[in-house]
Amino acid sequence: MRKSAFELSRMRKAGEITALILSRVAAAVTSGITTKELDELAEAAVKEFQVKPAFKGYQGFPASICISVNDQVVHGIPGPRVLKNGDIVGLDFGVVYRGYYGDAAVTVGVGEIAPKHQKLLSVTREALWQGIAQARAGNRLSAISRAIQNYVEANGFSVVRDFVGHGIGQAMHEEPQVPNYVSPLYRYDPVLKPGMTLAIEPMVNAGTYQVKINPTDQWTVTTVDGSYSAHFEHTVLVTEGDPEILTRVPDGQGGNGGMVRW
Ligand code: MG
Repeated sequence: MRKSAFELSRMRKAGEITALILSRVAAAVTSGITTKELDELAEAAVKEFQVKPAFKGYQGFPASICISVNDQVVHGIPGPRVLKNGDIVGLDFGVVYRGYYGDAAVTVGVGEIAPKHQKLLSVTREALWQGIAQARAGNRLSAISRAIQNYVEANGFSVVRDFVGHGIGQAMHEEPQVPNYVSPLYRYDPVLKPGMTLAIEPMVNAGTYQVKINPTDQWTVTTVDGSYSAHFEHTVLVTEGDPEILTRVPDGQGGNGGMVRW
């Protein structure tokens, strides 16, 4: 599970390109655009960067980016849906660069969103950072899960159980699973070591944690109670010291021109 320096050089590049493309798509989210048009933006960008979209064709997924709106939690399929003022839009995206994966997600609002949903976005984003802060050599994996769950539940929201984060490298999903909650069902709780690369990705619902899969498309996950859901994700490297964010926009290429940091 521990990556070599050579592998990490490729994963840094995969992470940077993932973050750049995701930032670009996030900046394009606006009232009146369709989710299909956002997917086309991602498609054009993977060609420009000469990488492969990680999700397209994954178990048959038909698009380059997962777009999950409002009560959709994850795995939404881009299509003719027109985004409108007040929507919240989860964008989950990854690339493969010379055999190595990057994976990241961000949720953005369209125009003016309800205060409750603004809080949902900020709590989910901060829950991700609370989890990342525990991705330190010597901690157990469950320190990440516990930090996320505690933060989310202290703020009155719930953590999705049915989908979890994951190790990442030459495959999008490697061991270990990285749940966003603590459960005796997860007996495998390794001590984190330098060189481990993890995709940490809290999925947070405003209502119940229970979700269902759309029986028609077999992909889109929604909340069972119709409450809105948010999702933030970074690919992170455990080091001897502070965790390193691999899916970061390179210095000088973010923070302006409409780029979104998360
Ligand atoms: Mg992921």
